Amino acid sequence: MLKTLQRIVQEVNSARTLDETLSIIVRRVRRAMKTDVCSVYLLDQEQQRYVLMDTMGLKKESIKQVSLDAGQGLVGYVGEREEPVNLDDATQHPNYVYFAETGEERFHSFLGVPIIHQRRILGVIVVQQQEKRRFDEGEEAFLVTVSAQLAGLLAHSLATGSSSLSGLAQNSIHGSCFKGVAGTSGIAMGSAVVILPMANLDTVPDRVPEDPDAEIEQFREALTAVRNDIHEVNRRLAQRLSEEERALFEAYQRMLDDSALGQEVINKIGEGNWAQGALCQVVTRHARFFELSQDDYLKERATDIRDLGRRVLAYLQKIEQDEIEYPEKAILVSEEVTPAMLGEIPKEKLAGLVSVQGSSNSHVAILARAMGIPAVMGTIDLPLGLLNGQKLIVDGYQGVVFNNPSDELLIQYGNLMRAEQKLQKGLEDLAGLPSVTLDGFKMPLLVNTGLAQDITHSLNHGAEGVGLFRTEVPFMVSERFPSEGEQQQVYREQLKAFYPQPVTMRTLDIGGDKALPYFPINEANPFLGWRGIRVTLDHPEVFLVQVRAMLRASEGLNNLQIMLPMVSNLPEVTESISLIERAFTELCEEGLDLKRPDIGVMIEVPGTIYQVSRIAQLVDFLSVGSNDLTQYLLAVDRNNPRVADLYSSFHPAVLNALNTIAQSCRGHECRLSLCGELAGDPRGAVLLMAMGYDALSMNAVNLPRVKSAIRQLRKADAETLLDQVLQLGTSEEVIARLAEMMGELGLGALLQPVMSLKTPKKVQ
Ligand code: PEP
Ligand code: MG
Repeated sequence: MLKTLQRIVQEVNSARTLDETLSIIVRRVRRAMKTDVCSVYLLDQEQQRYVLMDTMGLKKESIKQVSLDAGQGLVGYVGEREEPVNLDDATQHPNYVYFAETGEERFHSFLGVPIIHQRRILGVIVVQQQEKRRFDEGEEAFLVTVSAQLAGLLAHSLATGSSSLSGLAQNSIHGSCFKGVAGTSGIAMGSAVVILPMANLDTVPDRVPEDPDAEIEQFREALTAVRNDIHEVNRRLAQRLSEEERALFEAYQRMLDDSALGQEVINKIGEGNWAQGALCQVVTRHARFFELSQDDYLKERATDIRDLGRRVLAYLQKIEQDEIEYPEKAILVSEEVTPAMLGEIPKEKLAGLVSVQGSSNSHVAILARAMGIPAVMGTIDLPLGLLNGQKLIVDGYQGVVFNNPSDELLIQYGNLMRAEQKLQKGLEDLAGLPSVTLDGFKMPLLVNTGLAQDITHSLNHGAEGVGLFRTEVPFMVSERFPSEGEQQQVYREQLKAFYPQPVTMRTLDIGGDKALPYFPINEANPFLGWRGIRVTLDHPEVFLVQVRAMLRASEGLNNLQIMLPMVSNLPEVTESISLIERAFTELCEEGLDLKRPDIGVMIEVPGTIYQVSRIAQLVDFLSVGSNDLTQYLLAVDRNNPRVADLYSSFHPAVLNALNTIAQSCRGHECRLSLCGELAGDPRGAVLLMAMGYDALSMNAVNLPRVKSAIRQLRKADAETLLDQVLQLGTSEEVIARLAEMMGELGLGALLQPVMSLKTPKKVQ
């Protein structure tokens, strides 16, 4: 059964349209379960009706003609109950409704299973048989498994809008919203420019060609180029492989022949598809045919065909990519946006970016932040192939993308953008003013940096130092570990720019979602694996080079602080301190005139919450990494859009943990700060101030907003607010209370602009 299921999923996966998806499902499930009928009904969200979308066994004329109200008939009953309904004689059930068009009077047994994706009912899959019998447990379990597996694929297929039924429009990509995670705060509106992943046969859209002859010409060019490549590879391998072993290349050449695959593609172009789409159709069809074969030899041929297809596609895309014309407001969309892609778009035209892969810590997200480009990362369900040229709204606050938004949404976001620009203008004047409350309490605000570009931003915004310099960023832009000298130069630049204010340099925090191309860490559970200090303590040579570079860079400036990431126990702290002290002593012996830097530990692993007072006795400062602390406390991957709704630093458990940390640190000679995203949110900043945090470190962009909030309230008000908030039971209650209080204090405008919008409906 597992094999059958895998095959069905595999086949559905390669379907190009919703109709094709449905047709595969009904045919395959009927065959696998040996039933007389298999049908799929989809829920038209707008009309709240189930529409018979495809069937094997009922009359074909009823497809897309028969439909039922949401609560009507057995199908409606399955949808309402959200569980399987298994009947030996459907006609006897009180909910049974008969549609003459279907010819279903002959069928008695009925098994209907809801198709549910992310708590939303998409439709119902039904199998029926003439014989009066209850489907057995195994059959029922199989259909439930099929339905659960197919729900995600079907949701994606619906989202691509390729259904011929307009009533399902609300499910289509038009006007839909795709979830990712916030990369850079801000809103962008513009036209999508999709940079297709080079040679990915599964993401090429169908498109009507403007000039079919030119497409055929391009295809022929690409074909010739691939033939030449294969010929060349064959020639080069001639010395190392025997003729038999090279027979594959001959086979490749034959497959590419005008009379074989080549001619089929040309025919498809003639029928009205562009070269890339035609190629992918033909290749996918042949590959699928071979994949389904039981014969291992033939299965292998599927790989060959795909490989050839990718090679031809790569040439076609190269021809196409040379011709990209960027619109005035381009939203760069790609499977994995790379820094190079950012560089290819003229700067004045790049409005926003959306990447299917990646997280807020990816290199490109860090670059986007430095450039101030709103970005959404990790939009795993985005139908890339269908977005080119479409109107998009990129909401980098909430981490969502709207495709072809309604006029109403465009107006709402347009207003927000204007309000945001106005607010920013007003905030610019704050740069030179102190961060102090109405009742005279000073709350130092620092910045998080990574790239050299961050320096100017930070200084312009009136930062009082650097609370977190993510040193992995210069490591990411390099092609190998940067040398001690190279690192020293980068660190010196930071220390000098902020002198005499402190610069907190975090030792290399790689692993988790922070990858170095030249030092890959492949693990099943990277966030719980070899990360941060665990890696560098295992590689003292890397750690020592980095610390030495920091110390050398600080000579004469003496504003360096060193911070350790991902600490989970005391020995990690003591070992790191002794390595830092060793480097310090050696450099002093070399004759450098150094001041011992303050050393601090990041509190981001939940276990360390309960060891704060012990750690505080070992170091000069603690800094809470609320981004990681939230993900570990709530067991929610900070980069997984599927669980993004569960990730909230306003969760009472997180707030209480932050408060406990502040209480445990009190009385020790150890400063306490926080450098996660929460510090850059005015609501979070106000609460943290009330808890007693000594400093807050944030993105430069958020600093003026936070400063404005601090300057407009009394510390006593913040403390009252904190007392109330700590009594609440859910994130929603906390957020509502904060909004209320900010409103009462006249700070409503400082809330993230999208707070005033309804949470987008969950399509994906
Ligand atoms: C954090 O975890 O809150 C933090 C500041 O570090 P990073 O986001 O780089 O993991
Ligand atoms: Mg962290």
